[in-house]
Amino acid sequence: MQTPKATATAVFDNLIGGRWSPSPSGRLFENRNPADHDDLIGLFQDSTPEDAERAIAAAARAFADWRLVPAPRRAEILFRAAQLIADRKETFAREMTREMGKVLEETRGDVQEAIDMSFFMAGEGRRMYGQTVPSELRDKFAMSVRQPLGVCGVITPWNFPMAIPSWKIIPALVCGNTVVFKPSSLTPLSAINFVKVLEEAGVPAGVVNLVTGGPDVGTVLATHDAISVISFTGSTAVGRLVNQNAAPGFKKVHLEMGGKNIVMVMDDAQLELAIEGCVWGGFGTTGQRCTAASRVVVHERVYDAFLTEFAARVKSLRVGNGAQDGVQMGPSISESQLSTVMRYVEIGKQEGATVVTGGHRLTTGPYARGWFHEPTIFGDVTPSMRIAREEIFGPVVSVMRCRSLAEAIDIGNSVAYGLSASIYTRDINKAFTAMRDIYTGIFYVNAPTIGAEVHLPFGGTKATGNGHREAGTAALDVFSEWKSIYVDFSGRLQRAQIDTQEL
Ligand code: NAD
Repeated sequence: MQTPKATATAVFDNLIGGRWSPSPSGRLFENRNPADHDDLIGLFQDSTPEDAERAIAAAARAFADWRLVPAPRRAEILFRAAQLIADRKETFAREMTREMGKVLEETRGDVQEAIDMSFFMAGEGRRMYGQTVPSELRDKFAMSVRQPLGVCGVITPWNFPMAIPSWKIIPALVCGNTVVFKPSSLTPLSAINFVKVLEEAGVPAGVVNLVTGGPDVGTVLATHDAISVISFTGSTAVGRLVNQNAAPGFKKVHLEMGGKNIVMVMDDAQLELAIEGCVWGGFGTTGQRCTAASRVVVHERVYDAFLTEFAARVKSLRVGNGAQDGVQMGPSISESQLSTVMRYVEIGKQEGATVVTGGHRLTTGPYARGWFHEPTIFGDVTPSMRIAREEIFGPVVSVMRCRSLAEAIDIGNSVAYGLSASIYTRDINKAFTAMRDIYTGIFYVNAPTIGAEVHLPFGGTKATGNGHREAGTAALDVFSEWKSIYVDFSGRLQRAQIDTQEL
């Protein structure tokens, strides 16, 4: 009888200049399932700065042709890519859940976002409008057009492994740029799935290059002279480094960073709706969303009723492997992220907040081989506590009291971040006041802080972003620059601002 062969571990390569190839360094890193760390998904290239430089050179060469492909033709390729992703949605979602842990329903949503973004942005291939405007001089024509910038460095996090790369790469391509993509080392498989689709859809060799690896690769993208745009999503600490590294070369730097988002529950709110929103906003994706509702401020008149029912709902959430039916919350992405969660739970206790539910790591039975933590609510939180100010990026929600809308708004605006906020109220005056006075990039009325749609701008203020937006047509402003063109058909010298008196 033959002994069954051990299944060989899959090894995944980089894509540089149209060729899938390993890093000459021979170094690899592991990708493991956060719900079961015995489950090794594959080995990926731990690339070197030299690999990144080769990818940049390939992207720079490919730019010469790609920028001249008419935008509607570039868009046809992207429409094909959108359809291919749609055809493989279930497979991609299952592989994503295995790779990063969020429940299947949510990974399907992540893939759907990449589909939506690809269809939406491909449509821009036939728009990408500029302006034609009258000139102040006779027989002179004036217009503005968008032009591509060159090679874009794309650096992404792990929490939306296909959606976020699509928010950057698809607009970059439709505008006529080429790309070097460095995904998070925690989710390289979803990145490869996405890039393979682009290749299959007909994106020419060298137009999209993928280099897996760590900060070394990211640093090359941020500093290299041949990179014109660096588009980064991740933590504020790393975003600051990227910004500093890119500054001497005057690159265009697009940063989407951390958040500490607030839900404001007023005393006239539909309480059941607000509770449902806070459960989804706080514990969806295990609280690992930049837009997670990690702070809730509740009017003192409904605070007790809110907290009791919120805790009951959260206590009943089914935690487990996101691939299994009925599971509502998966694991933390990694041991280190779980340690951060546990550290903040201790900080919250030391600060005097009350653990209303949760507070512990889950280690037994189905949780023994994963990075699981109980969904946790802190009550009696005050706005100055660290758990009310710092991004935890895990299943921990801090609940505070307020006496008025004005106080809720002050608390909302009191943190370093400015990504998303929401209000639950039945009073239109309160809703509009909050909409105006909260200083975030995204705002919701009677819905939680999560749930962005691809055709609206996405991003935040203060320590969340640096003034750019992704998604919507705002993304075109990141990946193109304006050229103003004047055509004088008078046959004589006309001087702007000087010869304007002639009628
Ligand atoms: P991270 O900052 O640790 O890593 C992000 C990316 O940067 C990864 O690809 C990483 O390998 C790379 N990187 C690390 N060091 C680098 C360096 N020195 N130079 C260049 N690149 C480097 O973030 P993460 O843990 O992957 O993601 C979680 C963070 O992302 C949270 O703070 C979350 O709020 C934020 N996030 C923000 C948004 C948004 O749109 N605002 C969306 C999703 C996630």
